[in-house]
Amino acid sequence: MRHLVIVLGDQLDRDAAAFDGFDPAQDAVWMAEVAEESTHVWSSQPRIALFLAAMRHFAEALRAAGRPLHYRRLDDPATRASLSEQLAADLAQLRPRALRLTRPGDWRVLQALQQVAQQQGLPLQLLEDRHFFTTPADFAAHARGRKGLRMEYFYREQRQRQRVLMDGTEPLGGQWNFDADNRAAFGPAGPGFDLPQPPRFAPDAITREVLDLVRTRFGDHPGRLDSFAWPLTRAQALQALDAFITERLPLFGPYQDAIWPGEPWLYHAQLSAALNLKLLTPHEVVAAAEAAVRAGRVPLNSGEGFIRQILGWREYVRGIYWTRMPAYAEANALDATANLPPWYWTGETDMACLRDAITQTLEHGYAHHIQRLMVTGLYALLYGVQPQQLHTWYLSVYVDAVEWVELPNTLGMSQYADGGLMASKPYIASGKYIARQSPLCSGCRYRPDERTGPQACPFTTLYWDFLLRHEARFAHHPRLALQVRGVARVPEDERARIRAQAEALRAA
Ligand code: FAD
Ligand code: SF4
Repeated sequence: MRHLVIVLGDQLDRDAAAFDGFDPAQDAVWMAEVAEESTHVWSSQPRIALFLAAMRHFAEALRAAGRPLHYRRLDDPATRASLSEQLAADLAQLRPRALRLTRPGDWRVLQALQQVAQQQGLPLQLLEDRHFFTTPADFAAHARGRKGLRMEYFYREQRQRQRVLMDGTEPLGGQWNFDADNRAAFGPAGPGFDLPQPPRFAPDAITREVLDLVRTRFGDHPGRLDSFAWPLTRAQALQALDAFITERLPLFGPYQDAIWPGEPWLYHAQLSAALNLKLLTPHEVVAAAEAAVRAGRVPLNSGEGFIRQILGWREYVRGIYWTRMPAYAEANALDATANLPPWYWTGETDMACLRDAITQTLEHGYAHHIQRLMVTGLYALLYGVQPQQLHTWYLSVYVDAVEWVELPNTLGMSQYADGGLMASKPYIASGKYIARQSPLCSGCRYRPDERTGPQACPFTTLYWDFLLRHEARFAHHPRLALQVRGVARVPEDERARIRAQAEALRAA
């Protein structure tokens, strides 16, 4: 055998770089379902099912395309526990002359596979992933010589480089972003009965077999499978993309920060898992959104807001990940040491916003960005959760969680654990922010505008406690100074009450 092409669970594309020049007469593909990928973090049932079901569908597509495939199933008792053990065992039999691998989504996996290749004395050809607009080297070049990194400048560079939403050398519509138009909340009546529901993909025979396997083998893992309906093939992912562009993108912009209980999807794309599995390319997603804007089917504020997430944030976090690992994973700039409250794994809390976000997360393996950043993430930041514990939670529970994207979002954007590399300030707010974005507080036993006393909202108590704890650190921070000045006006006896109530919350 000439080349053995390693395909990981998040590399499900027949046109991936590792397949360049693939010759079925001399080459073969290797895929393996191994327990370690579901247990190195306590992966949720929807996340495990998504990866396994998508891998099995992709294996079918490879066979149909006539590509020789060596596929190890999890339910085969002979399958080893880890990717590296399985690969080492299979190499002894298959004896390829070289291994080919598209850059994985996880630093840990890259190290493990490189080590196997080295031990076996085999060349491992690592190919850059074409599923991104930029490479880690592009990001390093962007970062070189800059005092600080800011996503906005990176994004503008990408708009120009990729010629996306440009009008000659100027941004389409004369502005780079339309954030000011994108801050609506739903009125008291809510999003309305005609909220478009994204397509659901009923499990077929392959997926049902996987769901049974996950229930049997990982029944003690968090999350439920009853409403599992994610796109698992390229055809399904294209259908999901089409439905989003037509039905939900027009209102994506204004409502991207809104939260409504019992409505997990709102106007969000629900495409992150398909993108991260490589069932879709970001290029085709961005092109579809831009075409809809230019055809007048989608307002520019919505189209631009959506494209910024993909061409801006998604590329940016990947650049941070690959240029900063492995040290990045250990970052803890705010010296946070509290344990993650155990109810993050069950949703059993009397805080209505957290109960809603976590229950939905366990049900679907999904929460939209503002729920992740300003509900579960915010609470952990204010509470002082040790960032690595929170990272483990985010990596476990979401179907779109792959380390290259999850880690910078959690440690950097949400927890400020990298000291401001990703986000220009910690995203802190009191319960009043959640009251503005959602109706959840009206059904909660706490009051978002009270910071001490029996009905004080824990977010609000912890927000003031955060400012007290970090007063000196952020006193001269350009974007936080106003909030810190607010805390300077709090009298000593009230400070003591806030601190005591915050400590009681942590002790509970
Ligand atoms: P939409 O809101 O419709 O956005 C469109 C697309 O833009 C997404 O599909 C996604 O591909 C991309 N995108 C949006 N925001 C980001 C971002 N901050 N970083 C990277 N891509 C972005 N996203 C993941 O794909 N995997 C993760 O594991 C993940 N973990 C996160 C953890 C935290 C603490 C936070 C704050 C955010 C995280 N995100 C993650 C980013 C974002 O929340 C999700 O991409 C988004 O909620 C997915 O839902 P959607 O497809 O409906 O996205
Ligand atoms: Fe959440 Fe506080 Fe509002 Fe309750 S009052 S829903 S805990 S923000």
